[in-house]
Amino acid sequence: ERAHIGVTGLAVMGRNLARNFARHGHTVAVHNRTSAKTRALVDEFGHEGSFLPADTAEEFVALLEPPRRLVIMVKAGAPTDAVIDEFAALLDPGDMIVDGGNAHFADTRRREAALRERGIHFVGTGISGGEEGALLGPSIMPGGSPESYAALGPILEDIAAKVDGVPCCAHIGPDGAGHFVKMVHNGIEYADMQLIAEAYDLLGRAAGLRPAEIAEVFQGWNSGRLESYLIEITADVLAHTDADTGRPFVDVVQDRAEQKGTGRWTVQTALDLGVPVSGIAEAVFARSLSGHTDIRAAGRGLPGPAPTTLDGEAAARFADDVEQALYASKIVAYAQGIHQIEAGSTEYDWAIDAGRVAEIWRGGCIIRARFLNRIREAYDSPQRPESLLSADYFRDALAGAQDAWRRVVATSAELGIPAPGFAAALAYYDGLRSPRLPAALIQAQRDFFGAHTYRRVDRDGTFHTEWSGDRKEHAV
Ligand code: NDP
Repeated sequence: ERAHIGVTGLAVMGRNLARNFARHGHTVAVHNRTSAKTRALVDEFGHEGSFLPADTAEEFVALLEPPRRLVIMVKAGAPTDAVIDEFAALLDPGDMIVDGGNAHFADTRRREAALRERGIHFVGTGISGGEEGALLGPSIMPGGSPESYAALGPILEDIAAKVDGVPCCAHIGPDGAGHFVKMVHNGIEYADMQLIAEAYDLLGRAAGLRPAEIAEVFQGWNSGRLESYLIEITADVLAHTDADTGRPFVDVVQDRAEQKGTGRWTVQTALDLGVPVSGIAEAVFARSLSGHTDIRAAGRGLPGPAPTTLDGEAAARFADDVEQALYASKIVAYAQGIHQIEAGSTEYDWAIDAGRVAEIWRGGCIIRARFLNRIREAYDSPQRPESLLSADYFRDALAGAQDAWRRVVATSAELGIPAPGFAAALAYYDGLRSPRLPAALIQAQRDFFGAHTYRRVDRDGTFHTEWSGDRKEHAV
């Protein structure tokens, strides 16, 4: 008997993916560097389907039906390169290696090019949904060649999450496109989490609500347009009480956020592409600020406004405002992320369909949310919007939210409660709205000190003014 697909790397993700394949009736070859993990998987979950365990790489490859489909789920970086090298040497032209780890898309491009020379399809695949998603249905973002998707797509679509019967898996584009989109997905996830955290902070510190009360507010939001996985788990976390102390759980957690790097990659890549992803950047920086214990200790004594808390009626109105600010800022975060995806797609010639991306993010992944339907609709319409913000539905939503959004940003500044995500999103929105930006002055300054030239509003051409001489203008 041969396997339809194989998984090597049986830590939490690989193990659950292998089980997911098996539960869908696929015979799965399984392998792990430390073979105790392979045996443990078969012992514990063998009854769920058909597993073919292998102790060595050679045995593993021999178990796969040709053309071989091999999924690698090991630590990103050097371990992934080592495992690719080990297996590529054993494969034949036409075989496929799927890297489901969180690889940087530039590594994926490099690996894809090297393996293509040998006739092997390398399919860098973004997989979102964590441990549970891997088992019950993740959102899957495969890159690589169209031929590889023809052979792999049906199996991956089988195990993916489904929303309205549509699998949350689609061929994103060639080489690194899948990992690029997964990276931006994670960037949006950072922004979304930061915005939710700011809403929590404002409801607590400005409106004076306790975590259990904030949990109720979030539960309410989760039955409206903000309905999403992240809002749902936030309500759950805030309602949780610490068993040891009886205090709200969130109050006993240290306030230093860590990160594994995909948010940082998103911002680094956005800087290279020249895409303003300010909401994602603020989210990465907010985590980073939280971790700087020393400068935070030094800053604690800095003066601020006297703490005040809104009361009763005002607090309830403020909670409604925060809902609007959160929704509007979230729209901006997605607009920025989609802009980055489109810029990457242009730069690397990937022809990514943003509407399809929104569609496969509707289920399985961490940022799954009701409002992704609206994004898909916006990009499916015959008039593709230049920015998500200019699509009819979102333009109307922002028009309805903007007054409340401004009040929340103003209140946060007045009360001295940081809301960098809300504020950056609003500044981006107002930046796009502005008929004139002070960029004109910046161009003039650049011309003054560096002869960097400028363009005029009234004539074509490029100009320089002799600032230190007669101040005459020359066409250059
Ligand atoms: P880890 O990232 O913790 O990786 C552990 C696995 O890698 C083990 O199977 C380990 O084998 C193997 N490994 C490490 N180094 C080597 C090596 N040099 N040679 C061979 N095998 C090696 O596992 P996860 O399951 O958490 O994640 C797997 C991948 O999926 C990662 O790239 C991760 O970023 C990505 N991912 C993780 C998500 C999550 O929620 N955890 C979500 C989405 C993607 P051994 O048992 O022998 O040590």
